[in-house]
Amino acid sequence: MHQECIYCSRDERLEKLMIEIMELSVSTLYLFKEQTYFGRCLIALNEHQREIFHLSEATRSLLMADMAKVAGAIEKAFLPDKINYGSYGDTMPHVHFHIVPKYKDMEMWGQPFEINPNRVYFTDEQYQGMIEKLIKYLA
Ligand SMILES: [Zn+2]
Repeated sequence: MHQECIYCSRDERLEKLMIEIMELSVSTLYLFKEQTYFGRCLIALNEHQREIFHLSEATRSLLMADMAKVAGAIEKAFLPDKINYGSYGDTMPHVHFHIVPKYKDMEMWGQPFEINPNRVYFTDEQYQGMIEKLIKYLA
């Protein structure tokens, strides 16, 4: 547990950026509040690790399975043309992946998604609707 890490502390810094949906096998799934890329989610490993190659093979496999499960649910729920995956963490070095649906006629198709476009936000009710849809396809 690293107090300065938002994925460990799960404090208001995290709540400003995302909404917790559920725990998966070795990670926690969040809906990103910024929704330029409709359906954007994030999974964070449940333990503080800096690099995926620091994980055991078993944990790494489960993490990949969690990511695939989420991406499959995003595809069914929001019908994107492609899903992008981003893992950076220079300033927040706790293993996490941005899972970002991309649409052919929308922003940054054919290019890397913007990490924080800060343009599109929804109401709590709209976020809840998206979460319910995702949960349906995660079951
Ligand atoms: Zn952490």
